[in-house]
Amino acid sequence: MGPDPLPTGKRFRPDTPLAPLTTLGLGGPADWFIEVRGEEELLGALAAVRNSGLPFTLLGGGSNVLVSDAGVRGVVVRVKGGSARRVDGRTVRAFAGMTMNGLVRWSIQRGLAGLEAWAGTPGTVGGAIHGNAHFGGREVGELVTGLRVADDAGRVETVRPEDVGFGPGGDALAGRGRVLVSADFGVEPADPAVLRRRARASLAFRKATQPLAVPSAGCAFQNPDPETVALPPDVPCAAGALLDRAGMKGVRVGGARVSEVHANFLTAGPGATAADVHRLLGICQAAVNAAFGVNLVPELVLLGDFPS
Ligand SMILES: Cc1cc2nc3c(=O)[nH]c(=O)nc-3n(C[C@H](O)[C@H](O)[C@H](O)COP(=O)(O)OP(=O)(O)OC[C@H]3O[C@@H](n4cnc5c(N)ncnc54)[C@H](O)[C@@H]3O)c2cc1C
Repeated sequence: MGPDPLPTGKRFRPDTPLAPLTTLGLGGPADWFIEVRGEEELLGALAAVRNSGLPFTLLGGGSNVLVSDAGVRGVVVRVKGGSARRVDGRTVRAFAGMTMNGLVRWSIQRGLAGLEAWAGTPGTVGGAIHGNAHFGGREVGELVTGLRVADDAGRVETVRPEDVGFGPGGDALAGRGRVLVSADFGVEPADPAVLRRRARASLAFRKATQPLAVPSAGCAFQNPDPETVALPPDVPCAAGALLDRAGMKGVRVGGARVSEVHANFLTAGPGATAADVHRLLGICQAAVNAAFGVNLVPELVLLGDFPS
């Protein structure tokens, strides 16, 4: 007996455009697409995908991905929505599809401190855990006290943060089941007015340092590990600084451009294609390598096929 076909109708949709579901707004369609809004729907969709034998790709808020112009083969499962709850006085559990901004608001309203620095981070809890979202020198992994992940067989297991690779920009979930179902964050009681002030300060810093008016997907490259690179003393060990000093600000390929505001942001202007952004990534890497001998590793996740 062959694999079961995907249950179509309302659930799995064929040939679904992905560009509108990403902040770059680029790329082609998914062969198959499903949006899931809670744990039961997520696990049900994963079971159906498993029975179909098709490969699957997860999508959260689409704020750190570059979708190929040819789209994505197999099934794209978009994890969206859901809520948070208190597990105990010092722990909050959030479904993977909740937005980070929604979680920040939820915590502040309840006078729970910890997450407010992530105010303004686009995307979902799942995407933030996958990439260990960072801001102002802090990583979201620092707050995580537990993770519930679905493995390839559809079992949900609880893993400790020390069991996953919360490396900078790395895939925290690799090798531990690929799908984050929910994450537990350690929080502390605090005055909501103080938390609101901290969240506003984060938002103001973003506004001053990030190109928020044009489509982008956040930082294109991970910051290099200071232990592994030898830079002149006056050069900060940050991808943006290296790109800036390598003269990349404003460099364009087609409609893609290295932001003038923050050199680690690649922006998509009119007529941009995913291929433009991909070529620009390569040009950035070559320039930094030539100037500093540093190999920048993309933070941006490439979905679908790209030339190697
Ligand atoms: C204007 C702007 C500012 C940004 N600022 C920051 C910043 O300050 N700090 C920062 O770290 N990032 C920043 N980013 C990048 C981005 O917001 C973060 O990386 C975010 O955490 C990605 O979440 P997402 O839900 O959009 O993930 P997506 O882009 O949808 O996916 C990213 C990866 O996560 C995987 N994934 C998604 N959901 C799950 C799940 N449930 N289980 C397992 N894997 C999953 C996907 O398969 C993919 O590999 C910024 C982006 C923009 C556009």
